[in-house]
Amino acid sequence: MSHCPPEEWLFDVATGADASSVAFLVACHLELCPACTRTVRELRISGGELLAALQDGPTELQDVERALMGRLDGAPTAPVDVPFDPVFPRPVTAWLGPSATAPWRRIVPGIQRIDLDRGSRTFLLCFAPGVRPPAHRHVGLERTLVLDGGYRDFRHGEFRRGFVQIVGDEVHEQVMDDDGCIALFVNDGPLIPTTWLGRVASWFVET
Ligand SMILES: [Zn+2]
Repeated sequence: MSHCPPEEWLFDVATGADASSVAFLVACHLELCPACTRTVRELRISGGELLAALQDGPTELQDVERALMGRLDGAPTAPVDVPFDPVFPRPVTAWLGPSATAPWRRIVPGIQRIDLDRGSRTFLLCFAPGVRPPAHRHVGLERTLVLDGGYRDFRHGEFRRGFVQIVGDEVHEQVMDDDGCIALFVNDGPLIPTTWLGRVASWFVET
């Protein structure tokens, strides 16, 4: 399976059509994935060619051109003046500051969390080595971008820094790597624990 976002998400970012938390996750992935960065650059070039073609068309198309130009200009890019951080991509650093001083709060032993103020379902989790989060399923999609360390999903394999996992309405279980894991999550809805342990912990469903 691919560890990159679907191309339509890249297209939405390239054209500025998507300013949601999903675009935020994609922008973070781009910093960690040369292949997707290349794709977005190519999509932007094709957008420019489209604009050039529109200039020869009927006058009313100039409204379309203006609209398109606005969207291209509005495409999210990583802030250039944000310093490099070994864990956080620049969009996250711009939000939280350096990873070394990030405001983690412990939710259960072995798991810390930071809520990002970009909709209630966008957050970071930091897992201690070997942690197994309770089995759970989702309402809507769960989108995960690994920022540090990694984990193994029992059904979908290994995920490491830069990898994106998109999971729909299915039960899934994971175990964190020996060096732990920090990941960015963008979820459509609450997560539903499927074991009594998960229900007791209920750390997933607090937003
Ligand atoms: Zn990629």
